Amino acid sequence: NRRATRVARATPNRIVASSEVEQTYIMIKPDGVQRGLVGEIISRFEKKGFLLKGLKLFQCPKDLAQEHYKDLKERPFFPNLIDYITSGPVVCMAWEGAGVVASARKLIGATNPLQAEPGTIRGDLAVQTGRNVVHGSDSPDNGKREIALWFKEGELAQWESVQTPWLIE
Ligand code: ADP
Repeated sequence: NRRATRVARATPNRIVASSEVEQTYIMIKPDGVQRGLVGEIISRFEKKGFLLKGLKLFQCPKDLAQEHYKDLKERPFFPNLIDYITSGPVVCMAWEGAGVVASARKLIGATNPLQAEPGTIRGDLAVQTGRNVVHGSDSPDNGKREIALWFKEGELAQWESVQTPWLIE
């Protein structure tokens, strides 16, 4: 009986961890680019073992920033947020893998960098919510929506990494 409970508890995690291949939109914000953190941030996702599907340095127009953050448009910080995101180039990335959306959010850490755990990108590399260096989609649906918003057709690569058999049994 105890074993049955253990298996029942383990099953949902296994499903999330092993079969749900999804994509997330990760963006290094202008402060991350200006501060020379591009390599450091990309390398965290690379070393974890996710698959890079799209990557570009891009100057974001105002209307795209507004569309991306449309759910926050009533918030008092919205105009500053749009100025921030359009203040210099960003690095746009699409990453793929089982459970990548939630895992990337963990790698990124809490919105307020002072509350983000050490070891996370924001916890290690930032001090203020308004300059928190990186974005990551908060759900698989938003991952799809944001990748479609930031990348044009043909900008995502179709490839397989030679590492895959060494990452996934
Ligand atoms: P996250 O980026 O962690 O998903 P939210 O979706 O809540 O966080 O907010 C989106 C972005 O808006 C944040 O990453 C941050 O750049 C900015 N932001 C959120 N809250 C504030 C705030 N109180 N003051 C300034 N900027 C904020």
